[in-house]
Order: sequence, then structure tokens, then C-alpha cells
Amino acid sequence: MGNKTFAIIKPDAVKNGFTGNIYDRIIQAGFGIQGAKLIQMSLAQAEGFYDIHRSRPFFGELTKFMSSGKCMVLALEKENAVNEWRTTIGSTNPADAAEGTIRKDFATSLGENAVHGSDSDENAIKEIAFFFSESELI
Ligand code: UDP
Ligand code: MG
Repeated sequence: MGNKTFAIIKPDAVKNGFTGNIYDRIIQAGFGIQGAKLIQMSLAQAEGFYDIHRSRPFFGELTKFMSSGKCMVLALEKENAVNEWRTTIGSTNPADAAEGTIRKDFATSLGENAVHGSDSDENAIKEIAFFFSESELI
């Protein structure tokens, strides 16, 4: 089990003013922040990041949304980080997310679901490297 995961506070959550609330959840859940920055993805960058979903019917909508506004990208540290962060954010569809999870409390819809979390240690490493250079990780 690795100790790193990658998170995004997605454009809906930034626009809705939930960046601070989600930072609080990150800290309360015991994650360390190794890197954090505010960015706006280009469409091409969003398409690259979500390449594994390229053939899915929601790919166009997803990449348009993810490049539609500012988002916060974060490299997080904790023991068993991938699973711990996925538990903290809740199910992909906020309608199915458990009480007290970030998606339950701050997501807008299935597509605009407030946050991203890596699904494996391997993808966490790749996703962190997609957005951060070595010198940006403290
Ligand atoms: N998504 C969507 N419609 C779907 C499934 C997913 O719009 O039917 C979006 C949603 O924003 C989700 C992202 O695509 O967070 C990536 O999907 P994935 O299945 O990897 O969910 P996650 O890992 O984010 O929970
Ligand atoms: Mg996923």
C-alpha cells in the first residue's frame, strides 16, 4: 500500500466556494499536503488526464467541464492514501455517497462531483507527475 494519492478540487466546488471547506476535510482526515496549486486545465490537458475514459460516453462532457474553470490540484500523503482518500470523498455519484463524505456534502451532480481521487497507487504516481514537477513536491 502506497502513501500518496492525487486529488482535484473540481471547477464546480471552486466556483461554489467550497475550496476552504474541502481543505478542512483534507486536514481533518489526517492527510499531509505535499503539493497544491490553482490551475485551469486546457481541453487538451483534461483529455490527457482522463485518457482512460476516452471511449466512455461522458468523455466529452467531462473534459469540457474539467477545463471550464479553475481547479485545485493536490498531492496528498497518508498511509494507505488511495483508499483513505476515496473513503473521504465518497461514491462517484453524490446520490450514492455516504453521510459525511465530501461528495455527499459538496457535489453538484454525477458529472460535477466536487473532487477527484486516484483509483490505484500506480495511477496516483502517474497523476501526481502529470501536474507536478519534482521541485513542487515538498
Ligand atoms: N462521470 C460522469 N458520468 C458517469 C461516470 C463518471 O460524468 O457516468 C465523471 C465524474 O466526474 C467522475 C469522472 O467522470 O468523477 C471519472 O469517472 P470515474 O468512474 O473514474 O469516477 P471517480 O473515480 O471520479 O469516482
Ligand atoms: Mg476514477
